[in-house]
Amino acid sequence: MRELAEVAPGVLVATAGLYTTTSTVIADGQGGCLIVDPAVTVSELDELATALDARGLSPVAGWSTHPHWDHLLWSVRLGDVPRYGTVDAAAAVERGRAELIGELIASAPGHDLELFGRLTALDEEYIPWPGPPVRVLRHAAHATGHGALWLPQVGVLLAGDMLSDVEIPLLDLDGPDPAGYYLAGLELLAGVADVGVIVPGHGHIGDRAEYLRRVRADLYYVSALEHGDLAAGRDQRIGESWQRAEHDRQFAHLHA
Ligand SMILES: [Zn+2]
Repeated sequence: MRELAEVAPGVLVATAGLYTTTSTVIADGQGGCLIVDPAVTVSELDELATALDARGLSPVAGWSTHPHWDHLLWSVRLGDVPRYGTVDAAAAVERGRAELIGELIASAPGHDLELFGRLTALDEEYIPWPGPPVRVLRHAAHATGHGALWLPQVGVLLAGDMLSDVEIPLLDLDGPDPAGYYLAGLELLAGVADVGVIVPGHGHIGDRAEYLRRVRADLYYVSALEHGDLAAGRDQRIGESWQRAEHDRQFAHLHA
């Protein structure tokens, strides 16, 4: 885990080595903070807790953007505080807990399984916490119960596993309409006014121009994929072998 980088006033991002996974910390201005998707190995979570200690920040709440194992982690050092997710995300974790734990152990062993995925379902538009307003943008792209976060006072969009510079859109192939749901989620994120900073769940932070570029790139990819256009397979982000395999799987699923 690298140091915490301040991407906007009171918004700090740490980037883990595994999958370029980001963890975002939002300060409440009173010594507390909201932690979004703390990740990803045991030692990286430990380093995150140490970095928070060094800045005098204590977690008062958490948020998991979606019910995939690498976004459901927690450490005893982050404290016993409510860890929110959408209603659908919390339900998905309960349903899929055994499978999620299997994936966790295979990729990042050693976590406290009692703390893993303990979400409090939140059905409100804003996260109930003492800090600046944090609005939940619910959709079902990438995963059921995906909740991106919008921080209107500082213009920061925490996109979860979307709008990445290093990963192609990964559709929820278990859902009833993978491409349609993904496009609906993208439309929601594209409709947020005045985004100045984009923070993807995996990848690098971008400015407004980069946000707009990623929206276009993801819309292009998913539209091409939906229509069986081979141009989707030429997306520049398909560099690593696992993404080629994911692309091929998505294409085959939609056009079997
Ligand atoms: Zn994910």
